[in-house]
Amino acid sequence: MSNKPLLPTTEALRALDQAHHLHPFTDVGAYQKSGGRIVTRGEHIYFYDSEGSKVLDGMSGLWCCNLGYSQPKIVEAIHEQLQVLPFYNNFFQCSNDMAVKMAEAMAQVTPEHLNHVFFTNSGSEANDTNIKIVHRYYQILGKPEKKHFIARNNAYHGSTVAASSLSGMTFMHDQYTGIDYVHHIQQPYYFGEGGDLTPEEFGLQAARELEKKIEELGEDKVAAFIAEPIQGAGGVIIPPDTYWPEIQRICNEHDILLISDEVICGFGRTGSWFGCQTYGFKPDLMTFAKAVTNGFQALGGVMISDKIAEVLAQGKGDFAHGMTYSGHPVACAAGLATLDILRSQHTIENMAKEIGPYFEQRWKSLEDHPIVGEARAKNMVAALELVKHKGSKERLAPNAAASIVCRDQAIKEGLLVRAVGEAMVCAPPIVCSKQDIDTIIERMFRALDYTAKQYL
Ligand code: PLP
Repeated sequence: MSNKPLLPTTEALRALDQAHHLHPFTDVGAYQKSGGRIVTRGEHIYFYDSEGSKVLDGMSGLWCCNLGYSQPKIVEAIHEQLQVLPFYNNFFQCSNDMAVKMAEAMAQVTPEHLNHVFFTNSGSEANDTNIKIVHRYYQILGKPEKKHFIARNNAYHGSTVAASSLSGMTFMHDQYTGIDYVHHIQQPYYFGEGGDLTPEEFGLQAARELEKKIEELGEDKVAAFIAEPIQGAGGVIIPPDTYWPEIQRICNEHDILLISDEVICGFGRTGSWFGCQTYGFKPDLMTFAKAVTNGFQALGGVMISDKIAEVLAQGKGDFAHGMTYSGHPVACAAGLATLDILRSQHTIENMAKEIGPYFEQRWKSLEDHPIVGEARAKNMVAALELVKHKGSKERLAPNAAASIVCRDQAIKEGLLVRAVGEAMVCAPPIVCSKQDIDTIIERMFRALDYTAKQYL
C-alpha cells in the first residue's frame, strides 16, 4: 500500500468551497448551489483541474501569468528570498534590499521620466495610492481644490472603495456609494458607440469628451484623468489611433495630470513594455501590478514622474499612506526575477516582432465566422463581438446569453476565454508559439460554430 495521503475528491473540495469560500465577482447564492472548477496545477500555458481536464489558458491566469506557469527562475528567487529575509517593512526610515533593487529596476524599464515608485500589493491599492499622491501634490502646490478625477465608462481600476469609484462599471456602483469627486466620460468603443463616424473621427470625439468634462467642472477643480491604454476587463476596447494624441493634448493644455493604468497593458501585452509606449503618450503616473511578478507574488505600485516626486519632496511631514507589505522582499524578489527574464531574453521585443503580429492576424481571421461582427486585436490582447447578422450589430440573444454559451463551449474545447457582455476576450501568455496560437484559433472557431448552431 502506498503511504501517499489520499487527495480530496473534487466533490469534497467543491463542497468545502461552497460552504466556506466567498469568491470575488461571483453571485454568492448561485455559487453556493453550483460550485465551480477547481484548478490544481499549471504548466507552461496550460492549467489542469481536479477532474483532470487540461485547458489552454487564453487569459494568462487573470491577465497576469504573461510568461505562463513554468518559470523556475522566479520560483527559485522566491524560495531563496524566503530563506534570507522573509519579511521586512519599508516604514520609519528603513528599507529592505530587495525593495531597493526592484525600485531601481522599475525605474530602468519604465519610460525615462518615471523614476520613483510607491509599492502596493495590488492594482486596486495602487489606484487608491494615485488618488492620495495627486491630492498631496496639489495640496503642496497650494491648490487643494484641484481634487476631481475623470475616468471612463466601463473602465476597471480595481475594487477597493476608491478604485471602484474610479472604475466605470455601473453594476459595481449599484452596490455601494462611491467617492463623490470622480466623474466618468465616454469610452472609445468604436464598434458599440462609433455610429456613422469613421474610427478617426470617433477617436477625436471620444477624447474631446474629456475636454467637455474639464470645462464643465472647471479646470481649477480637475486634478487628473485616469485610463487604461486599452480597456481590458471592459471588453478589450482598443482606441482609434486619433484617441491618445488628443487626450495628451487636452491634459497638457488644461494642466491635468494623466494617469496610465497599466495593470493589464504593462509588461508586453500590447507589444511594448507599456501601453503608453504603444500609443505614444507620456503619463505623469503609471499603475502596475499583475504581470510584474508574472502573477507569482502579490505586487503592485505606482510609478511617479520626476515632476511629481520633486513636489512631494517639498511637503512637510509624512506622506500618510502605506501598507505593511509595501515593497515586501519576497514579492520584490519575484518581480526582479520576472524583469530579469524579460530583459535578458528580450521576450517582449521578440514577441512583438513575430508572435504578436501572428496572433493579431490569426485572431482577426475569426471575423470570417458568420456570428462575428468584429474581431479586434492589439499584439497579445483581443476580443470579438458576437452578432446575429454581420453589419447589423443585432445581438444573438438577450442579456449577453450567447457569450456565456460560447465561453462554456470553449472550455469544453480546451480553451479558456472570457465573456464580457457580448464580447469574447482573449489575452494568452506572450510566450505562446505559433502552434499554440493555431490551437487557440481552432478551438475558438469550434466554440463559435457551436454557438451559431444554438442561435441561428
Ligand atoms: N487596473 C486594471 C486595469 C485592472 O485590470 C485591474 C484588475 O484586473 C486592477 C486595476 C486591479 O488590480 P488588482 O485586482 O490587483 O487589485
